Amino acid sequence: SRIQPPEKPLKSEEWNRLRENFQSPEVFEEVMLNSMIKSNSPIDVAKSLLTQVAQSNGDIAYNLLVKYLALCVQQGQTAEIQEMYDIMKIRFKTLESGAYSLLIKGLSNSDQWKMALSLLEEVKKIMIPSRTNYESCIKAAGRHQEMSLAFELYHDMLSKDLMPTLDILKALFDFSRGMKDAELQKELFGILLHLRENQIYPHKTFMRSIKLWFESIPGGNWRGHLTNIKDSGQCPVCSHQLEDSDLTEEEYNNLRERIIKDVIHGTDTFRKTSPQEFEAFQTFVENRLPFDIVIDGLNVSHIKLKKMQCENLFDAVNYLAKGKTRVLVLGRKHMLSNSSNWRREIMKEMQSKADFFFAENISEDDAFLLYATLQSGKHCKFVTRDFLRDHKACLTDSLTRHLFRKWQRGHQIVFSPSEGGKPIKFLPAFRYDCVVQTTGDTWHIPYKDIFEEKYSYQVPRKWLCIQRK
Ligand SMILES: [Zn+2]
Repeated sequence: SRIQPPEKPLKSEEWNRLRENFQSPEVFEEVMLNSMIKSNSPIDVAKSLLTQVAQSNGDIAYNLLVKYLALCVQQGQTAEIQEMYDIMKIRFKTLESGAYSLLIKGLSNSDQWKMALSLLEEVKKIMIPSRTNYESCIKAAGRHQEMSLAFELYHDMLSKDLMPTLDILKALFDFSRGMKDAELQKELFGILLHLRENQIYPHKTFMRSIKLWFESIPGGNWRGHLTNIKDSGQCPVCSHQLEDSDLTEEEYNNLRERIIKDVIHGTDTFRKTSPQEFEAFQTFVENRLPFDIVIDGLNVSHIKLKKMQCENLFDAVNYLAKGKTRVLVLGRKHMLSNSSNWRREIMKEMQSKADFFFAENISEDDAFLLYATLQSGKHCKFVTRDFLRDHKACLTDSLTRHLFRKWQRGHQIVFSPSEGGKPIKFLPAFRYDCVVQTTGDTWHIPYKDIFEEKYSYQVPRKWLCIQRK
């Protein structure tokens, strides 16, 4: 039921005529207002519709008021938003979250922005405000240079377990630019440590805000440079050596125990393999330990679509199984079927270079990969393309999750398909740890080229180096 809103305000009888011609007149106003929001109609057109409704019903339903409010917020019609607030406050004791969100958003952009704060307080009495509610208020406080208020709100949302959006964090850096205030600096360093603890990587524009803020601190003498860290972990700009990615013996043992307990033995739904098969695998591994590299064979075999799957795997094995490197390839039984993708002679040659374990065709191989890698010891690396998004959720506490990610960063060999006839590109596992880090006089901040709210296994290769001259 598409409907085109009129361009000018209509008289009552004109609205009536439109309604009568509409296929379901009982929802006419609702559909019409939705369409006005979509096409961003002038508010006096919407207002003329509401006037008509008031005249014929003596009252305007809540949901129609909210839709009208949405249109006003969309267009930044501050006076109208304030009037709506007054009307709704009188008519309804409390509103629902949709209306509160609109009012907070609308008022926070006006010179009456403090009213948005009182509304936030009102929301808090009935529910946990949304991230967007906080975002509106924090940005409003920032725009008016009330940074301690902005940070008060920021801590308030953290205390309610609401993860601030990167946009909020970026805004806090932007609005603090050029201010000299020790307390404020401490707060912003705190955000950087928050990025570290939660292993969040800022995107390019956020990174720029961080850089500009540092460089704007009066008398701070901070200078930022964009750089790539050397494989050795040294920063080419300031020569600082980054933290290494090694886990301590104790951390490693804890992690291994937890993963074997929580992930491998923990949930039946995760392990799509039979207990017999997993036992056979365990015996196989125990008899051949330790390995240096464990490869997810099926995953690697799909690197280049134009190549036979066994050729892709062959390239990877040839590349990685050099010298005394002991490689374990996790395969599937169907790889032994001598098909067009899996040629027997190539499979035979590979098996002379690496150990192979062939699981049932349906088995979930992440558990195998984790088990063989962790049992091999701290030095062992693994190769797969996409990995362990779900399994992190199986790790119950945040410390273990943190260790897991650190271990993953330091032990996952990532590969990417290369163009043309060139061989597959393997990016070595990191010897240094890819997290925000500081020595006091330096900060090193890894960042991503593109915006990506979700954590991804792919750690960035680009860094912002900030040092105090
Ligand atoms: Zn540096």
